[in-house]
Amino acid sequence: CAKAAGRNTYEFYDGPVAERALRRHQLHGLLRQALERREFHLHYQPRVDLLSGRISGWEALLRWNSPEEGAIGPAEFIPVAEESGLILGIGDWVLHHALAQHAHWQALGLAPGIMAINVSPRQLRLPDFTQRIAAALALNRLQPGQLEIEITETALMEDVSHATLRLNELSRLGVKLAVDDFGTGYSSLGYLRTFPLDRLKIDRSFVTPLGSDAHDEAIAHAIIVLAHSLDLTVVAEGVETEAQLRYLLSNQCEEIQGFLFSRPLPAGECERLLREDRRLAVDDRVSTGSVAVG
Ligand code: C2E
Ligand code: MG
Ligand code: MG
Ligand code: MG
Repeated sequence: CAKAAGRNTYEFYDGPVAERALRRHQLHGLLRQALERREFHLHYQPRVDLLSGRISGWEALLRWNSPEEGAIGPAEFIPVAEESGLILGIGDWVLHHALAQHAHWQALGLAPGIMAINVSPRQLRLPDFTQRIAAALALNRLQPGQLEIEITETALMEDVSHATLRLNELSRLGVKLAVDDFGTGYSSLGYLRTFPLDRLKIDRSFVTPLGSDAHDEAIAHAIIVLAHSLDLTVVAEGVETEAQLRYLLSNQCEEIQGFLFSRPLPAGECERLLREDRRLAVDDRVSTGSVAVG
């Protein structure tokens, strides 16, 4: 009996919980050196305006290539970076790198639209966060309105007092503010109304069923109506099919992002899209029901 209990204990410590802890510990060790070893780069995913069919901006998405572990996705390493505080240095790198890229496209005479970056709660709590943003904009000679900051609904709601303070500062500076992954957290509508937000990004989980599930369509519709009633424009994340696009078009969603138009791409390929002035053919789409990317 004692032996069995002993084995159970052993299994517990050696089980999935311990494995996850070990993996996080390992990632933390590798992440600590990743910045100076230049293992990060950014991909950019275009956001498309549904009125014009044109690229209206980009979301910078962090990529990590570890020589030891290969490519590791942000969904796995961002939480480790956040927990350990490494996100502060990494977030600064993302900010500077994304703005320098935007300034470069602009200097080439391309019209890149807005550059959006993801910001984590730890960054938002930095007392001089807004000053850092202002300095990075000035360094790259960009207007504050050319930058958008995405903050997840969960991050906004878990620390309302810091979020309110920081969002008010950033909004006074003139930076655009978006609530990311909307629908996955628990928003207080009262707070949502008081934050100086510009945009709401509907989480992919509500976009995926569009065109096939009436119940989920009702939720997406409600989110769009809510956003508009709060004077926010709407970006749908993770649009992969024409059926999803058609639904969003006929429900007054302003912008889309997703594999249907483009995956996140390295900077060189983004530049090509801008030069080609690549568009979603949205003019005849509602009448013919067909959507083309050309
Ligand atoms: P997010 O900000 O919600 O970014 C959207 C995610 O959806 C990205 O995943 C993107 O590649 C993916 N995606 C876009 N279109 C589609 C589609 O049509 N279908 C599918 N299945 N997926 C699509 P990614 O790049 O793996 O990033 C995951 C999350 O990691 C991001 O979610 C964001 O929360 C976080 N993240 C990425 N870069 C950064 C960063 O620089 N800083 C911080 N703090 N977080 C970041
Ligand atoms: Mg985002
Ligand atoms: Mg999102
Ligand atoms: Mg997401």
